[in-house]
Amino acid sequence: SSPPAQEAIRIIDRLREAGFTAYLAGGSVRDALLGKSPKDYDVATDATPDAIRGVFGKKRTLAFGASFGVVGVLPDRRDSVTQPPRADKVEPTEVATFRSDGVYLDGRRPDSVHFGSAEADALRRDFTINGLFFDPVNSEIIDYVCGREDLQRSLLRTIGDARQRFAEDKLRMLRAVRFATTIGFQIAPETANAIAEKASEIEVVSGERIGVEMRRCMASEHVLSGLDYLTDLQLMRYVLPELAQMDHAVIHQLFLHRRQREFPSALALLLLASPSANADLRAITERWKLSNEEVRIVTAALRGAPKLAIAHQVAWSKIQPILIDRDVRYVLDVACDLAVAEGLGDEGLQRVKAALELPSDVLDPPPLLNGSDLARLKIPAGPVYAKILNRLRQRQLDGELSTREQAIDEVRTTKW
Ligand code: ATP
Ligand code: MG
Repeated sequence: SSPPAQEAIRIIDRLREAGFTAYLAGGSVRDALLGKSPKDYDVATDATPDAIRGVFGKKRTLAFGASFGVVGVLPDRRDSVTQPPRADKVEPTEVATFRSDGVYLDGRRPDSVHFGSAEADALRRDFTINGLFFDPVNSEIIDYVCGREDLQRSLLRTIGDARQRFAEDKLRMLRAVRFATTIGFQIAPETANAIAEKASEIEVVSGERIGVEMRRCMASEHVLSGLDYLTDLQLMRYVLPELAQMDHAVIHQLFLHRRQREFPSALALLLLASPSANADLRAITERWKLSNEEVRIVTAALRGAPKLAIAHQVAWSKIQPILIDRDVRYVLDVACDLAVAEGLGDEGLQRVKAALELPSDVLDPPPLLNGSDLARLKIPAGPVYAKILNRLRQRQLDGELSTREQAIDEVRTTKW
């Protein structure tokens, strides 16, 4: 098992030595049973936050959600052989007191929590597959919610009455789609019906929080079933109204050849098929708080794609920089396939397709000269270097210069 798993098990051992009950809980148990490596290992215990801090000492514990009953426990330095050496890289393990949630007032969070039994703690969780505990001492799954059965049947189902659970916390509707998408599960009929009924209430959830779940859906290999779920369950027109009118046949075609699983390229692909892509991207950026990097990648793909069909009419030095941007390249590749399939802009696209097949040192050959070469040619340092190197690069890409000697000649005979 991984260092974080060993760390969580050490923490559980310590709590048990101190006379408490403690289990692995939630996502890590689900992922382990699915044969996936868990992102993190959360511990649930009957020890109160004060008792947890008593067992591990104030220095090793962070009271980050003490009012919700969650304490972060840092690794013991004596166990540091398995831990990264730099203190700032050490992640605390979340240790949470068994609890039941109070009344939900705002559609997102309970107004209070009460410490309770392991069973109550399982019952307050969202989906049966997220409600399992694992007791590492006896190597035993503790299942109060029939989660194991649903895992076996690949079913995502709320714990308890679906309508009530979604009324308490509306974000759970989108979490349902996200889990079903990323692990490739079906949503159970009564759970799905409740979402379809309450879909409009997702609007109380912040755009940023919606963006977090949508990124995970779109980065998934099962993105297509995620998009289908969003549409079928009526969530699409609230979480991504820009695409609500989109033809599902087109969406399926777009993702047919999808090999890469990154959020920005999935979003770029969808927007490429949208008539108002730029305006849509601006709206989505604002709602989901896309990062500058995410916006850069999507924008580059949206700008690059229309140039591909005319690639045979413009200088190669104008097209090549679009194609060598790794983050964008994949999107263009798919956009090309699609356009070729539809018989659009054949000549330019064929040229681009052919270029995308080239080995990278042919598509993006090393420059003929660099700055030190210019210094050796006694060119005085200054902004002229960039001008010369850019010009040489453009002529190289356009096939007008192909050797160092030709480039040196060009530098010597041109008045810069
Ligand atoms: P991952 O971390 O891979 O997204 P996870 O299952 O660990 O999956 P988290 O959001 O980290 O999901 O939450 C940890 C656990 O807390 C869940 O497994 C679930 O039992 C519970 N939980 C999280 N969010 C909710 C919620 N909105 N309502 C009820 N229970 C929740
Ligand atoms: Mg988690």
